[in-house]
Amino acid sequence: MRVIDISVAISSSMHIYPGDPAVEVQPASAISKGDSNNSSRLVMGSHTGTHVDSPRHFIQDMLSVDKLPLDVLVGKAYVAEILTTTQIGVKDLEKAAIPPGTKRIIFKTVNSKLIWKAKDFQPDYISLSVDGAKWLLQMGVRLIGIDYLSIEQFKSPQHEVHHVLLEANVVILEGLNLTGVSPGEYTLCCLPLKISGGDGAPARTVLIEE
Ligand SMILES: [Zn+2]
Repeated sequence: MRVIDISVAISSSMHIYPGDPAVEVQPASAISKGDSNNSSRLVMGSHTGTHVDSPRHFIQDMLSVDKLPLDVLVGKAYVAEILTTTQIGVKDLEKAAIPPGTKRIIFKTVNSKLIWKAKDFQPDYISLSVDGAKWLLQMGVRLIGIDYLSIEQFKSPQHEVHHVLLEANVVILEGLNLTGVSPGEYTLCCLPLKISGGDGAPARTVLIEE
């Protein structure tokens, strides 16, 4: 069994989606300053780094992150490699050989190879199209992961991909780093912080290869 970490590290120099709070990790107590222990004060947005969007992110009265079903967040997942240079559309999905009955799908795109290496946030990331989102819903998918900070095109005016998926209670997993991960079947383990009433939360996320 191999456990593959597909999370990005949280630090003040990480990529932040424009408009989200900057990350601060500051010492609250420090052994080097004579305190008895090291302890930190954290400042970050709920959609920092590798994180989950719960339906409440876009729809006020829907599920918060602490109420997401754990049996959706943990279980068999298929990693599909899609090498489009624009958006993931229906044609890409049809060619991706996604096994029938797939409930959790994770998209490995050129984002993993190129975008995470950049110094700052990159707006030209690969995203999922609205038609692609609807196609995945038809397929019965419950969780969709992607390898950059949003599943949706940058500055999408109506956030239609988020609305289509979240209104159907599909869990969106964003900010994955899939460098070195081969396409295929894995067991996904994604456990977002249990923030009461939260719209989303950072999630240490791993793939388990049997
Ligand atoms: Zn998000």
